[in-house]
Amino acid sequence: MTAEPSAPLLQALLSRHPELHLLPASAGHDALLPYEQDWRKRYRGQALAVAFPTSTAQIQSIVQLCADFNVSIVPQGGNTSLVGGSVPDCSQSQLVLNLTRMNRIRQIDPANLSITVEAGCTLQQVQDAALDAGLFFPLSLASEGSCTIGGNLATNAGGTQVLRYGTARDLCLGVEAVTASGQVIHALKSLRKDNTGYDIKNLLIGSEGTLGILTQASLRLYPRPRTQQAALLTCPDLACAVKLLAHAQSQLDSALTGFEVMHQDAIRLAQQHMSTQARAADALMSTAASAVQPEWLILLDASSPQSAEALQQSIENTIQHAMDQGWVGQAQLSMSHTQYRTMWQLRETIPMAEKIEGLMVKHDIAVPTSAVPAFASRCHAALHQAFPGCRIVCFGHLGDGNLHYNVQGPREMPDDAFLQSHEAEVNRIVYDLVEQYQGTISAEHGIGQLKKLELAERADPARLQWMRLIKQALDPGNRLNPGRLVD
Ligand SMILES: Cc1cc2nc3c(=O)[nH]c(=O)nc-3n(C[C@H](O)[C@H](O)[C@H](O)COP(=O)(O)OP(=O)(O)OC[C@H]3O[C@@H](n4cnc5c(N)ncnc54)[C@H](O)[C@@H]3O)c2cc1C
Repeated sequence: MTAEPSAPLLQALLSRHPELHLLPASAGHDALLPYEQDWRKRYRGQALAVAFPTSTAQIQSIVQLCADFNVSIVPQGGNTSLVGGSVPDCSQSQLVLNLTRMNRIRQIDPANLSITVEAGCTLQQVQDAALDAGLFFPLSLASEGSCTIGGNLATNAGGTQVLRYGTARDLCLGVEAVTASGQVIHALKSLRKDNTGYDIKNLLIGSEGTLGILTQASLRLYPRPRTQQAALLTCPDLACAVKLLAHAQSQLDSALTGFEVMHQDAIRLAQQHMSTQARAADALMSTAASAVQPEWLILLDASSPQSAEALQQSIENTIQHAMDQGWVGQAQLSMSHTQYRTMWQLRETIPMAEKIEGLMVKHDIAVPTSAVPAFASRCHAALHQAFPGCRIVCFGHLGDGNLHYNVQGPREMPDDAFLQSHEAEVNRIVYDLVEQYQGTISAEHGIGQLKKLELAERADPARLQWMRLIKQALDPGNRLNPGRLVD
């Protein structure tokens, strides 16, 4: 794995850590591609090398050496960032620090409902470890087989269960991190309460690798729900979907774990590109949708320590009321775990189907849930007026007011030409409306490279100034993930 080191830093690294796995630029473009290119293939950088440390002490030493040689570092986990946050620039002078070899589960404490893991553990690995202990780690993303806990915390990932359990931030009890100067911050406590001054843990969470390198985390676990059920529901419009959400919250309370929405165009895309397994969801949906032409499909997810019968009764009552009110046309309840998984696969297939379909101008916005219907209809009208024939793929976590609102050019126009000519205008239309409804331009994916300028233009000036002051104070040499999030 260690080809000819091509720079003094790499020689110093290998002489201090002969066992360090290092992939230098001289290993060739193909070898480095998975670490230099982002998931959506929008950004391709060139690194000096990719290093794969296996301990906090190694990371500390690498950071110190990088400081000596004035080399900047791009922390990387599973490289599933959707905003170009985890790949190097094109200077061939940055070190990618990939943490996927720091992937040990350190401790599970069932009585404290906590788990301590290294930052390079995949999310799925942590979910599985919790299940093996008879417990439950609720963070759930379609990228969970590849994304890491370090990346999840660095981006404050959201996903499908935020409604009930919160974001990655809410699930984190403590962290260990290496700072830009090479100090180790020991804040790996597994406490629910700790009022001892500034909240360093929460400063690092969501900092996208710009303030420190997360090396370990202590995470909150939950009792494993006895029952999980899902329902697919057809809905004529988003106003009805929001009414259904409010009703479901009042009836199911904390049993309501997820409330996803998918526009029919997003479903069509998933059907077009979906895997064999997900085709079963297609059949399910066709049955549900046969009576009406629904604009929207809702995926309602509920879990509970109650028996399956009790939960099912509550869901059925909720749906019946929604049907009586005309909010819902057809409904299908999952009757087995396979059906439950199949329903979720339909939703999870959409991002992959989009990737196959082509380049889109992507948005990960949130507005207050009550404002979602007005936002979406105004946005739809404004975009179609500006770009006749444009295709909108809209889906997301309606329970959190979070929509993935993605725009592709008209069929006859090549995707890259549409992006080149119109991306800025599409963004202006979408983000101006987001601002009018007091929303955010990034609900869960972060800022990275993709939204840095937008943030600089739109964020509150005082908040932006604090962010820059914090970055300057904690990383005066601008060595950690420079050019991302804030300048
Ligand atoms: C199919 C698909 C579905 C997705 N669904 C969701 C979703 O529902 N919700 C959601 O929130 N996101 C989603 N994402 C985005 C992505 O998976 C998350 O942002 C995830 O948290 C990134 O984890 P990662 O390990 O891949 O991090 P990377 O992509 O490697 O890095 C992301 C950022 O974190 C920094 N970073 C990584 N590791 C560390 C570390 N140890 N210390 C400090 N900084 C670090 C990087 O520098 C970068 O800025 C999805 C992505 C894909 C491809």
